[in-house]
Amino acid sequence: MMKPRKTPTRTCTGCGQSSDKRSFVRIVRTPDGHVEIDPTNKANGRGAYVCAEPDCFEMAAKRRRFDAALRVRLQDDDYARLRRDFDDLLARQNAKRGE
Ligand SMILES: [Zn+2]
Repeated sequence: MMKPRKTPTRTCTGCGQSSDKRSFVRIVRTPDGHVEIDPTNKANGRGAYVCAEPDCFEMAAKRRRFDAALRVRLQDDDYARLRRDFDDLLARQNAKRGE
């Protein structure tokens, strides 16, 4: 008998939709308390997921949902920095896809 294959799913911090883990950008709170975009999806620490969509990031940022998801208190410039890194990552991913 075959075991049902379990695809890991995650929920977007912005729009709240669940989907395959690979379609998300991961944001991680590292063990030393830094919050950053995790392009590898496997950095150590507590993670929050957001669709690879600027709109979803904005929704999450506007409601400061990363604070709750990561159990930290982020400042405005943290959100601004994360947004820049998020955009960079999307641009890199899109460039790759366009090759
Ligand atoms: Zn989303």
